[in-house]
Amino acid sequence: MLWRVFSFLVCQAIPALAVWFFNGSSKYLTAEVLVAALVGCYIWLLLDALRGLRLLKWLRAGDTSDIPLGSGLWGEVFDRIRKLVRARERTLSESEMRLQEFLAALQASPNGVLLLDRDGRIEWFNQMASTHFGLDAKRDLLQHLGNLVRDPGFAAYAAAKDFSHDVVMPGRNSSATKPIKLSVHIHPYGDGRSLLLSRDITALEQAEAMRRDFVANVSHEIRTPLTVLAGFVETLQSLVLDEEERVRYLDLMSLQAQRMQTLVNDLLTLSRLEGSPPPAATDWVSVGMLMAQCEQDAHDLSLILWSTPHELHFIGTDSLEIAGSSLELHSAMSNLIGNAIRYSPHDKVIEVRWETLPDGGAVFSVVDQGQGIAPEHIPRLTERFYRVDRSRSRETGGTGLGLAIVKHVSQRHGAELSIESTPGKGSRFAISFPSQRVRVREHELA
Ligand code: ADP
Repeated sequence: MLWRVFSFLVCQAIPALAVWFFNGSSKYLTAEVLVAALVGCYIWLLLDALRGLRLLKWLRAGDTSDIPLGSGLWGEVFDRIRKLVRARERTLSESEMRLQEFLAALQASPNGVLLLDRDGRIEWFNQMASTHFGLDAKRDLLQHLGNLVRDPGFAAYAAAKDFSHDVVMPGRNSSATKPIKLSVHIHPYGDGRSLLLSRDITALEQAEAMRRDFVANVSHEIRTPLTVLAGFVETLQSLVLDEEERVRYLDLMSLQAQRMQTLVNDLLTLSRLEGSPPPAATDWVSVGMLMAQCEQDAHDLSLILWSTPHELHFIGTDSLEIAGSSLELHSAMSNLIGNAIRYSPHDKVIEVRWETLPDGGAVFSVVDQGQGIAPEHIPRLTERFYRVDRSRSRETGGTGLGLAIVKHVSQRHGAELSIESTPGKGSRFAISFPSQRVRVREHELA
């Protein structure tokens, strides 16, 4: 401020003194000296106004990178404004950064996120919401959501304005063969705005439907033998039977009880397979031992079911070993062999084979000459309780879970189940094991 007063006085004094000096240094204050001082005063005001204009220009340009530095009052005004502007810029860029981080987090959300203004117009949405509703960021921003999402269920939900629950609606590319289900929930916030969250629940719904089917199937499978058993018990209680009849009834009851037992055992096996970690790749199981067990079981089963047993060929290399669980491998092998016996007439040949592959892997296969399976059934055979020949399956004590168990065991051993079949000619079920799970005993190699 001092500098300002000083410069003001100097600006008047210099021209006044100059005029006074040139006019002969008179003792009196002449009019010329006063005019010169006045001119000095105007010059100072002009210079001052110019500096003020520079500040105004700089402020109007809004470009804080080129700061007109100066001293004195204007200099300080420049400096303080610059500091204020810089601080504001910093706050703004920090807010912008935080906003971007926040939006990036919403983008990364596995759910669809959509922000709506007070009138239900779209303000922002993430990529997942765009996929769920088929929205385009360029085209659909500021459009009314109701105009773009036309599902009647959603329209009724939005109109009712009861947002205490979600609504389930079909996704964009949903079709009868490939249904897509979305759960959509609107959450109002602020002054009339809303946040819409969408979630793809197709897999969840499928799992729930599978669970319902599974419970219904298990109940049905258990109810049948249970009804038969209850009927026999009632007969035994109410009728006086001769010894022969009594024994026949008890045999039939025992068969039904066995059927239930097999079903429960298969269910427990499945749940163990689904709920436990995969078998270690360091426990080696002898293929020769597995084949010996299965061969004995196969002969017994064939004899029980057909009285004249099948011609069974067991071909394999005793030196082969598979890394995994002997219990699980035995279960998978005996299921496939059992099916071949149950679904082939007794005068046909069944071939059970273990063989190594050039890449170091190994294949276990069961080939029968039985009734075969039509191609449309093959992709569904490993579903739980899926049966092609329902009556044959029941007659021979099938549970409909055998191939589901085989598939699980195969997956747990890194192996793959393949099925080839020609109706009327026979089938080939094969499990291919990767080389990491296969080894040939060393002394056999030598
Ligand atoms: P199941 O206990 O009914 O045999 P699986 O899961 O083992 O159940 O088999 C599913 C269905 O696949 C069977 O019901 C049967 O119709 C068919 N199937 C399985 N193996 C054979 C086979 N070797 N030949 C013909 N059909 C078979």
